[in-house]
Amino acid sequence: MLQSQLFPKTKKESPKDAVSINHKLLVRAGFIDQLMAGSWTLLPLGWRVINKIIGIIREEMNAIGGQELLMPLMHPKEIWNETGRWESAKEVMYQLTDARKKEFALSFTHEEIVMDLLRKHVNSYNDLPVAMYHFSTKFRNELRPTGGILRGREFLMKDLYSAHQTEEDMNDYYEKVSDAYIKIFNRIGFDSYITEAAGGVFTENRTREFQVVAEAGEDTIYIKKDTKKALNKEVFEGNLDDYEEKRSIEVGNIFPFGDKKYSEKMNVTYQDRDGQSKLVYFASYGIGVTRLLGTAVEVFHDERGIIWPKSIAPYQVHLIELKKERNEEIKKKAEEIYDKLQNAGVEILWDDREVMAGEKFADADLIGIPVRLVVSEKSGDKIEWKERNSDKTELLQLDEVIERMCTREK
Ligand code: ATP
Ligand code: MG
Repeated sequence: MLQSQLFPKTKKESPKDAVSINHKLLVRAGFIDQLMAGSWTLLPLGWRVINKIIGIIREEMNAIGGQELLMPLMHPKEIWNETGRWESAKEVMYQLTDARKKEFALSFTHEEIVMDLLRKHVNSYNDLPVAMYHFSTKFRNELRPTGGILRGREFLMKDLYSAHQTEEDMNDYYEKVSDAYIKIFNRIGFDSYITEAAGGVFTENRTREFQVVAEAGEDTIYIKKDTKKALNKEVFEGNLDDYEEKRSIEVGNIFPFGDKKYSEKMNVTYQDRDGQSKLVYFASYGIGVTRLLGTAVEVFHDERGIIWPKSIAPYQVHLIELKKERNEEIKKKAEEIYDKLQNAGVEILWDDREVMAGEKFADADLIGIPVRLVVSEKSGDKIEWKERNSDKTELLQLDEVIERMCTREK
C-alpha cells in the first residue's frame, strides 16, 4: 500500500474529548473515526487489524469444531418475550417500532436466535453436540460509552453457542472453549487471566471472564499469586495476602447456562436413545473483537505511538524512502524493495510521500508497524532495519531483509 494514497492521513492532535490512550492514538494514527458517542468507523488500517484478530479467533474456533454462520441483527419482539428478556433487558436493548407498528429489537446478543435455530433443526441425540459462532455487530444502550473503542453502543463481537445432550458434555466443551480463549489471547500477545465473576444480566450463576491487565480497564481483579487465575472484585471474598489487585479489561466471557435458563423457556428438546424427549444443555461464549483492538493499544504503546504485536499488525513492514531533491536512484531502490517484499508475501506500507524525514519517522512511530525499513543516501546500497520496539538499527542487504521477514515468527 502506498502511504500517499492511504485514507485518511495521520493527525498531529488528538480529539479534544479523548481521555483514553486507545482513543487518542487510534484516532490520530487513522485507525478509527467516531460518528457519535459509542459509534465508530473502522478505517482501512483499523479494519486490517480487526481482520487479523478475526483470523486468529476463527482458527481457534474451527479447531474446536465451531461452525461459522451469520445471524440477523434485527429480531422480532416475540422471540425476546419467550424468555422474558424483552422486559428484563430493556435497559441495554435497542427496541424499535416500524411504520406498521411492528416491534423489533437490535441484536445485543443471540441466545434466543440460536435457540430458535436449535428447536427447528435439532431432532434427535444424533444432532448433538453442535457448536456455531459468528462475528457480528451488537447494539447495547451503554450509559457511559467512554474509553474509546473499549466500550461502544455498537461493536463487533464473536459469539459462540453450543448445545449438548448432557451437563457433563457441556462442561467438557466449556473447558475446551476456555483453553481456546487463552490460546487466542496468547497469540495476540496478551497476558490474560481466567477470572471468576458474577453473571450480570445473563445469568444468576457465576461466570468465567477473561481479563487483560491494563490501567484503562474498568474492572478490578484479584490475581491469585503465581497463577493465571483471578477473581473479579464483585465476587471476591478472602484473604488479600494471597492476591494481587490489578485494573483490567474484560475481553471475553463464557456462560454455562445448562437446560433451564433458555432450553426450558423456549422448549428446545431432542429425542434421546430411550425415545424420551429431553431438554438441550446450552452454553454461550463471547469475545469483544473491537474491544481487543483498543486493548492492544492500551497494552502496547509508548509516548510516540502504538507498538503492534506482529500477530495483529496492519502491515508487517513500513518502508520509508528519504531523498534530498529528486533522487531517482533512491526511488528505484524503494520500488524494488516494495515489489520484492510484496512478491514474497510480506504486507508492506510504503511511505512514498514528498514530506520531511522527521514527519515520516514520527508517523511510523505513531502507526506502529513492527519493522521499519529506510532507504536513503546514507544507507548506500543497503537498507536500514529497525524494529518498533527497539532502538537498534542495522544495515542489511535486500536478500537478508526478505529472508528475515519470511522466517520471522508470527
Ligand atoms: P461489560 O461488563 O464490559 O459491560 P459485558 O459483561 O456486558 O461487558 P458480555 O455480554 O459478557 O459483556 O459480552 C461479551 C464480550 O463482549 C465482553 O467480554 C466484552 O469483551 C465485549 N463487550 C461487551 N460490551 C461491550 C461494549 N459495549 N463495547 C465493546 N465490547 C463489548
Ligand atoms: Mg461479561
